[in-house]
Amino acid sequence: MRRAQDPCPCGSPRAYPECCGLYHTGTPATDAPSLMRSRYSAFVLQLEPYLLSTWHVSTRPASVPFSKNQKWLGLSVVDSKATGEKSAEVEFIARSRVSNAAAVRHHERSRFVLEGGRWFYVDGDLKGR
Ligand SMILES: [Zn+2]
Repeated sequence: MRRAQDPCPCGSPRAYPECCGLYHTGTPATDAPSLMRSRYSAFVLQLEPYLLSTWHVSTRPASVPFSKNQKWLGLSVVDSKATGEKSAEVEFIARSRVSNAAAVRHHERSRFVLEGGRWFYVDGDLKGR
């Protein structure tokens, strides 16, 4: 169980309840990078309902496969930019490790759209490793 003073899993200096915890409990993410960070935190905390509810309906999977032995090591948001009035891209690197294997980098440039006042993850392109 996480404690209130623990730093947020997304790597921000803020405590979880004042960072991604806000979004996980219903506050709409203010922008695409915030949604991106809250989705990373949701992977760390295995919050499947949050991941599904922030996945755009056009690309949303039926379920999110969590790997039991996967340990998330950190998130870096590399770049983000608006691509339209209601669309944005965020490039990030998420590092994780499964059991005792070497750490792997997930480097993706993701697309997000704003609909009805909420940001949604649409899809992304994997970048070279
Ligand atoms: Zn956070």
